[in-house]
Amino acid sequence: MTIQWFPGHMTRARRQIQDKLKLIDLAIELLDARIPLSSRNPMIDEILQNKPRLVLLNKSDLADPELTRQWVAYFAGQGLQALPIDAVNGNPVKDIMARSRELMSSKIEAQIRKGMNPRAIRALIVGIPNVGKSTLINRMAGRKIALTGDKPGVTKGQQWIKVGTEMELLDTPGILWPKFEDQQVGLRLAATGAIKEEILHVEDIAFFAMRYLAGHYKEAVKERFGVSEVPDDPSDTDAIVELMEAVGRKRGALMSGGRVDLEKASLTILRELRAGKLGRITLETPQEAVGMTEE
Ligand code: GDP
Repeated sequence: MTIQWFPGHMTRARRQIQDKLKLIDLAIELLDARIPLSSRNPMIDEILQNKPRLVLLNKSDLADPELTRQWVAYFAGQGLQALPIDAVNGNPVKDIMARSRELMSSKIEAQIRKGMNPRAIRALIVGIPNVGKSTLINRMAGRKIALTGDKPGVTKGQQWIKVGTEMELLDTPGILWPKFEDQQVGLRLAATGAIKEEILHVEDIAFFAMRYLAGHYKEAVKERFGVSEVPDDPSDTDAIVELMEAVGRKRGALMSGGRVDLEKASLTILRELRAGKLGRITLETPQEAVGMTEE
């Protein structure tokens, strides 16, 4: 599903979330562990205001574990608790519950002091498309929830899903737009598959990915694609294109006459990267992120 985000959609998405915020105690911000900053909504702090917040770094099964640790520290530095999860094959619910309880502990204790029975924590999952919101909602519900309103601007009656006895989760997530006007962000989103190829050219996305991989994951490239040479200087454009062509030849992505079909090679590179065939790869580091936000 590709959402076209026009200014009107953004305003409506934002209003929808702000309406839901009135109903909840805790916002669960879902990010992609491979691109924690690029998968973030640029206005998230303004939208969520001072609502207690838990950050989840989803798809951590595909991300570089060392960098995931660095990202958790980066968020801690911003006063945000971040928890890496795998919504598909992991067992995230227990950890999410424990962190949520921790984040809400002063409120829960205050209720107990007043002699009240602590009420279930009311929570809302928010995030950009494809970050794993529906997958996680289903995991938390322990069953498949039909999401009919999964488009900005399409509303339906929302319901609370019980997560054990301690949490109630809104069944419709808050859908946010990414910072796609930044070309680097767009390329990172496209490389992970969060936005579709129609928006950017597949060769451009694969070129971006290959350049990043050559700079950060040289051995993985050599091993996966069976190429002997990976350029030392990732800014050498010609050398990166040659590397893509070498991968194309290895994978038999050829046109008549034996020339490399670069589009086919690009699709192969991206498919294998997204499926985790090159290993666990993160496409942005907190150090780079500092540069991004300063721009
Ligand atoms: P939504 O648009 O935010 O609701 O995203 P979905 O829940 O539809 O997930 C988008 C895609 O990401 C689906 O193909 C999911 O199977 C996949 N996905 C979600 N969470 C994870 C995860 O933790 N690990 C991996 N490997 N894939 C995931």
